[in-house]
Amino acid sequence: MGVLVNFKICDNASECGGIESCPTGALFWDEENKKIGIDNSKCTNCGICENFCPTGAIRVARTEEEHSKIMKEIEEDTRKISDLFIERYGAMPIEPDFLIKEKEVENEIKVQTKPLLVEFFREDDVECLRKSVPINDLIPGEDVVFRKVEVENEDVISEKYGVSKFPCLLLFADGKVSGKIEGYFGADNFEELRNGLKGLLG
Ligand code: SF4
Repeated sequence: MGVLVNFKICDNASECGGIESCPTGALFWDEENKKIGIDNSKCTNCGICENFCPTGAIRVARTEEEHSKIMKEIEEDTRKISDLFIERYGAMPIEPDFLIKEKEVENEIKVQTKPLLVEFFREDDVECLRKSVPINDLIPGEDVVFRKVEVENEDVISEKYGVSKFPCLLLFADGKVSGKIEGYFGADNFEELRNGLKGLLG
C-alpha cells in the first residue's frame, strides 16, 4: 500500500528523518518542487520511516483498509502548519504567526494576558530547541501564546533576560520572566523538554 505524509503537520525539510532512514528511496527530497516526494512503487511497507518522524506526519499503510483509515484521519486532522512548535531551518520559512522582532518582545510581554512562551534563536542555530512538533502535542491543553524571535543582539538579550545559552525558551508571566529552558532539545531528549515545559507552566 505504501507511505502517506500528513502535510498539515510536516515541516517539509530536506533533512527529514523519514527520507534519511528510508532504505529504498520511496521517500525522497524533491529538489524541483522543494518538498518531500513519495514514490510508492519503491515502498516495501517496512515502517522504518514512521519511527523517524517527530510529528507523526509519516504513516505507513499495509492494507487497503489501513490506507483508507489513514487518509480519513489526515483529512479530518484540524491541526495546521502554524501549530508547529519549531520549523527546521532550510525548509519552509519560519511561520509568520509566531515570528516577532526583537524590539517587539517588550510590547508582547505587556499586551499578552496569557502566559507567553518566547523562543530566542540565532540565525546560525541550525538546530533549534526542538525539531517540529505541533505545540498542542507538546503541551496539550496549555493555554499559552508562543512566539519566536531571531536574536540580533545576543549580548542585549542575554543581559536583559538572563540568558546564558541560545536557543532559549523564556516563559513570561505578569510582565516578567518566570522560567527558562536553555539549549537544544532533539528527538532523543524530547521528554526532557516536555517535562521542563510542564514544570514551567505547572
Ligand atoms: S515504509 Fe520503508 S520503504 Fe516505505 S517509505 Fe517508509 S522506510 Fe521507505
